[in-house]
Amino acid sequence: MKKIRFFIAMLAGKITLFGLKLLGRNATFLPGKIAVAIDKNFLAGLTPPKTVIAVTGTNGKTTVSNLLNSILLSNGYSVTNNSLGSNVQAGVATALLEDSTLTGKAKKEIAVLEVDERSSLRIYPYLKPDYLICNNIMRDSLARNAHTEFISFIINKALPKSTKVILNADDLVCATLAPGNQERIYFGLDVDKIHEEGPLYLQDIVYCPHCGGLLTPEYLRYNHIGRMHCEKCDFRSPEPDFAITEINKDENKFTVMHNGISESYYLINDNIVNLYNFCGLIALLSTMGLSHKQISDGFAKSKIVKTRYDKLQSGDLTITMQLSKGQNPTACARCFSYVAKCPGNNKAIIFVGDDFEASESPCWFYDSNYSYLADPSINQIIFSGPRCMDQYLRAQMAGIPTDKIRTITDSTAGTELLDTQLSKDIYVLYGPYMVKQANLVKEKLIAIGAGGEDK
Ligand SMILES: [Zn+2]
Repeated sequence: MKKIRFFIAMLAGKITLFGLKLLGRNATFLPGKIAVAIDKNFLAGLTPPKTVIAVTGTNGKTTVSNLLNSILLSNGYSVTNNSLGSNVQAGVATALLEDSTLTGKAKKEIAVLEVDERSSLRIYPYLKPDYLICNNIMRDSLARNAHTEFISFIINKALPKSTKVILNADDLVCATLAPGNQERIYFGLDVDKIHEEGPLYLQDIVYCPHCGGLLTPEYLRYNHIGRMHCEKCDFRSPEPDFAITEINKDENKFTVMHNGISESYYLINDNIVNLYNFCGLIALLSTMGLSHKQISDGFAKSKIVKTRYDKLQSGDLTITMQLSKGQNPTACARCFSYVAKCPGNNKAIIFVGDDFEASESPCWFYDSNYSYLADPSINQIIFSGPRCMDQYLRAQMAGIPTDKIRTITDSTAGTELLDTQLSKDIYVLYGPYMVKQANLVKEKLIAIGAGGEDK
């Protein structure tokens, strides 16, 4: 009976997938949803690929998943991947059923599955990952994610003890995940050990998870990312097994130390969040047995997908497109910090405000650190979208002079307020649901740069 139910679920999923593709529709969610509705143990009924990798954590899942996919493919592996689709149970089921036979046997060698943290309980008990990579656990959309302790609790409850975990040593919420899992690999950054934000702005872990004593930071890069130890017991941040020890922006290289050996890799992007993503990937791929040459060649051939980061020139305007996830205070603060630190003294930022924000609470603006935007190198800030006035208020509270700020409710009209005599370096920040609108803004900027006619 079990087998018949599974077979019907698989057949229904495959027919739905075929039909949606025939109609040219998005087929990354519904086939899996139908399969799981017919057989709730559908994932357990599959014979998964030989290696199953789960990619999870608040920020960087899609970047890590895409790069992992690309590096494995460039080394000749066959890979099942859901990073362009849904990362909840139905999305995972869709990706796997698409690359399985009717009896549920995987056709590919490796599954790279991006997994939404909150979906852990619906996935890991049925499909046991061989590896789990988690780059950070940060506060995210409050309405959906509650607090980081809640997210850790869910992952810990769902994850099998046999999974090898690849964790960020510099994020104590992440580093203490899956305490019962014996095989643990840590990665981190062994460069620029400074308190980046001066007084601590926002920390998601303050007390020792062992004894409840106050944690003392040795240094913190941002939020709770850094190294800490407990004053009362011997608890401290774990030492990274893989650590970035050097970053050479001029030569686009970075160095990773492992077991006393330093090896160099191609630097795709120097945003600190991405440095953690890269180091985690190297730790994972090395643990899987890939050689330095295989990983390093893979990095050299890869890039971050253009929907997340892009840089181009039009006339005398330099346009940088940077994804900046809404409802996600840390991801946004990282983007602000990145723009502030980029070279140049005449920067403008255009925020392509999320239209969906209109129905969401703007409270997360106050969890994000807007004070980076007060950097003197940024001389124009344009907030667009339905929440532009809330953003204006938040920016004012962060000490940004009001004469630098402009607002407009149309998410695609930010360029109308831009003074290109004042700024030549334009940064467009947008959420994952606003890629289309951000591209419209980009087209307008390209036209302005090329001819200066239409704003
Ligand atoms: Zn302690």
